[in-house]
Amino acid sequence: MRGTGKGAITKFLLALVCEFPLPHRPQHSKRSDVEKEQTNGGELILTGIPVSQGVAEGRVFVIPKQAPLKIPRFPISEKELPSQIRRLEEAIQKTREQIHKLQQRLTQSLGGTQEARLFDAHLLILDDPTLFEETVQYMKEHRVNVEHALATVAEKFVQAFSEMEDEYMRERAADVRDVTNRVLYNLIHREAGHPPALQDLQEPAIVVAYDLAPSEAATLDRTRVLGLATDQGSTASHVAILARALGIPAVTGLKDATCRLNGGELALLDGYSGQLIINPTPRTRYEYITVQRKWHALEDRFEQLKDLPAVTPDGHRITLSANIESPAEVDLVLQYGAEGVGLFRTEYLFLGRHSLPDEEEQYQAYAEVARRLYPQPVIIRTLDIGGDKMIAFQDVPPERNPFLGWRAIRICLQEREIFRNQVRAILRAGSVGNVKMMYPMVSDLAELIQANNFVQECKAELKAEGIPFRADIEIGVMIEIPSAALQAESLAQQSSFFSIGTNDLIQYTLAVDRTNPRIAHLYKPTHPAVIRLMHEAIQAAHRNGIWAGVCGEAASDPVLIPLLLGLGADELSVSPRLVPQVKYVIRKCPMSEAKALAEFALRCEDSGEILERAQLLLQSIAPELEIYTS
Ligand code: PEP
Ligand code: MG
Repeated sequence: MRGTGKGAITKFLLALVCEFPLPHRPQHSKRSDVEKEQTNGGELILTGIPVSQGVAEGRVFVIPKQAPLKIPRFPISEKELPSQIRRLEEAIQKTREQIHKLQQRLTQSLGGTQEARLFDAHLLILDDPTLFEETVQYMKEHRVNVEHALATVAEKFVQAFSEMEDEYMRERAADVRDVTNRVLYNLIHREAGHPPALQDLQEPAIVVAYDLAPSEAATLDRTRVLGLATDQGSTASHVAILARALGIPAVTGLKDATCRLNGGELALLDGYSGQLIINPTPRTRYEYITVQRKWHALEDRFEQLKDLPAVTPDGHRITLSANIESPAEVDLVLQYGAEGVGLFRTEYLFLGRHSLPDEEEQYQAYAEVARRLYPQPVIIRTLDIGGDKMIAFQDVPPERNPFLGWRAIRICLQEREIFRNQVRAILRAGSVGNVKMMYPMVSDLAELIQANNFVQECKAELKAEGIPFRADIEIGVMIEIPSAALQAESLAQQSSFFSIGTNDLIQYTLAVDRTNPRIAHLYKPTHPAVIRLMHEAIQAAHRNGIWAGVCGEAASDPVLIPLLLGLGADELSVSPRLVPQVKYVIRKCPMSEAKALAEFALRCEDSGEILERAQLLLQSIAPELEIYTS
């Protein structure tokens, strides 16, 4: 979604509630307003990028930037040794108590789940005398302070674990790192215990974080996180995608909100305009209640289309499916009337935990989705980790350019066991539902061929083992790297469908990091190069008799939908909650107009002109959606 669209939502809402003018709100329909800040009657208004609709009110809970621990190193005398040892004992004891508490809380709130049991491993490490004894020994031998001694010994342990043959033991390296970091944190910052994190949230609150790693974002709990605001991030960052999926109002790109807030302040978060209003006046609070009511009325209008098809006024049928991250979202897929799942991001089954889900666990998850949605299709995307989505147990050295690094299909083709478990689970789930498989981040025909050969091997194994699976499973390719779009003709010959991942395609075509708020204004879905690549891919698909959809965030932007239709997209796949508004636009947009827009865009060299033309079209076919175009 572009900066212009969502900022304008507020204007529309304001028009609806004109009997309650909102004097403090700026008319900010341009992304240059991101840095704006205002105060009014004691309110502090911070403006960022609106990424998930809705309004939240509550106290602020701040999760600041987690600076790497600075480990002090200084010499100690023999006399100081006992006090250093005592500090180590105390820090270990304190860590033990903190883990017990955390475990208790997780057990209460999640009912004794795996997350709570995870900490058993941490307690075992703490109770193992080796860590303590080696640290004391190091202090004695090198006459250095306890922090330095513990950090050195811990690193040795981490190394030793990560080099072990046994996969289970290798995974313990992450546990050692986690738990020794907690002890170090207790030694260095005696008061805090450990840096504030989502898991510390006791009461429902508006979380204001520097950034949230996808593994952390995956634990977002709607009942406790009323709203989400981050200093970092942009519209296509994973935290934004997750907030939309969960229906949590969210604003990203606030730059320094975490430095300016202490936590505990009362705030209103406006996910339509991108504002975080600290200490709102009673009038502002009242006005927002009204705004919410009016917005819900508009949503009701969209939702009335639930059982109607996504068809243009001149009879062109589009498949409208949903993007999900977990089986729990099937309820939303059904509730909002999507035609199955166009993108199941399976990496969220792997994130935020310390062991890999095995074949059986994955099979259960995929089969549940497939069964519940049958006969609708469910497109399961193979693991797309790497980039900013690292899984905890992968003890890989940090990469300089993670988005250009070891990720997605590249990992799967090397880590055969991980890929095998997943492919087998998907093939098996195919026997109980309408399952299709899709590979992410394909950059080369050779990768597709290798992956397809591997799937053949997995099929042969399952057959030999007498396990039911779907032999004729359709396999698709995500088009999200320019090289894939340019090789689309050959890729189409080896696959059953394409799904264009605009989030990454824009990032890689324009060399604009999708998570960096500083360059968010350069992240342009209407850039002529992006449009030509999408066109190239869709044309190649059609020439080869396969369909092409779009599953990136552009597919849910009302201004861009006509352009995607005009380029020939056969399917749009969007966050379940956005299905109704996308259907609304499709049902208003004649294909003839969409095609004329696409033809113009393919001749044009200026992204601004293309955007303007797309906005004009939306205005003419659905003037009531002026919010997205003004
Ligand atoms: C995309 O890149 O557009 C996409 C749908 O995949 P993800 O957002 O998970 O990278
Ligand atoms: Mg992607």
